[in-house]
Amino acid sequence: MITSYQIYSDQVFIKGKLQAATLSILDDKIAAIHLGKYIPTALDYSGSVIMPGVIDAHVHINEPGRTDWEGFETATKAAIKGGITTLVDMPLNSSPVVTNMAAFQKKIQASDGKLYANCGFWAGATAASVKEIEQLIAAGCLGVKVFLSHSGIDEFPNISLVDLDQLMAGIAHLEIPILAHCELDTLPASKEIIATPKSYTAYLKSRPKTWENEAIKSFIALAEKHNCKAHIVHLASDEMIEWIAQKKQEGIPFTVETCPHYFFFNAEEIPDGNTLFKCAPPIRKKENGQHLKQALQAGIIDFISSDHSPAPPEIKELDGGNFSKAWGGIAGLQFLLSASWTALKEEMSLEDFIPLVTSKPAAFLGLDERIGQIKEGFQADLTIWQPGISFQVEEGMIEHKHKATPYLHRQLYGLVHSTVVNGQWAYQKEVITNTSFGKKWLGNNKGGKV
Ligand SMILES: [Zn+2]
Repeated sequence: MITSYQIYSDQVFIKGKLQAATLSILDDKIAAIHLGKYIPTALDYSGSVIMPGVIDAHVHINEPGRTDWEGFETATKAAIKGGITTLVDMPLNSSPVVTNMAAFQKKIQASDGKLYANCGFWAGATAASVKEIEQLIAAGCLGVKVFLSHSGIDEFPNISLVDLDQLMAGIAHLEIPILAHCELDTLPASKEIIATPKSYTAYLKSRPKTWENEAIKSFIALAEKHNCKAHIVHLASDEMIEWIAQKKQEGIPFTVETCPHYFFFNAEEIPDGNTLFKCAPPIRKKENGQHLKQALQAGIIDFISSDHSPAPPEIKELDGGNFSKAWGGIAGLQFLLSASWTALKEEMSLEDFIPLVTSKPAAFLGLDERIGQIKEGFQADLTIWQPGISFQVEEGMIEHKHKATPYLHRQLYGLVHSTVVNGQWAYQKEVITNTSFGKKWLGNNKGGKV
């Protein structure tokens, strides 16, 4: 059956501007764009912003193997409720971890029929496994993730800088990004956490900025040496912002993301024993978050991702409150758009904000000829929301597998009421349509079945 309809709003985000426009959707594509109210019968969304679907390049879905932590169905339902039309799954937290073809096939099978949003996949490298990476990229993975410190998952050990050097030499020609968790946990840090495991200050001191700073310097030096595309995930140390700006100016091929929890929350407000806030690198002080926001505004940090990494309450140590034992990861997928906007709306205009969650991650993923903008011929992935309307996060509205999140009871700006995935109304007037319209991104602009 052919899908065909027109939608109108007085605020459609086209070519960097919010303007009155009518979009004609035909099947899964934006077939035509007309300024103004071109067709009187178009569905009228005046008062709401229509923008390209939000893209979250960093999500831990956990299926197969740890579906009781989070699965494809729950994660992608949360995604569309939060206006996200494409997310990309990390290779760890599922079992097996995606470091070879057999594991990737299991991952692909596990996602069948469960995707409410479109989903891409990162491959993982735990040592210099160049051959396996080449196969995984040929099969459609969008890039490779590595850890420079312990990942939290024993089956996914971190890579040494020596192995990373070799890996980059072997795969630089593939022109896909290597994403690195940049912390060097072999460097000195405070040991106060051993005596006071419930103290957030002690936890913060146990993962100092120097761990991030030194890891980033080593990682980018290797990227420069091999001319290999590099990506720093979840930047949390403001001490690297100027250095990053400088290295980008020198033309080294790398990108940087940060996550809303690093600038929405701050260490000063985290109560001792509240392990909901545990993540790595840690949420730092308020001033640090302010600097991250400025770096987003200045374009030094390229885009925002959720780094959604949930766990069951017992693994999150919610009763014990022990920061050394608790799982490190924030559940925040559904609130990527609204939490980011709430924290940034005083800092920048909506026109400057929207690319941080749409066209910029699309370019990073190599999907910018298909998604990330409202453009004729592009995939009809749309988020319809009201940036000026606020709501309080309550358990009943959360689609994540587990309701525990530090965003609970927070007041957020930016109410998403409808999400279009591949031309279909996946979420309409605050109701999830009971059909999984999502597809798998296997490959990107450069090729592959997409
Ligand atoms: Zn992560």
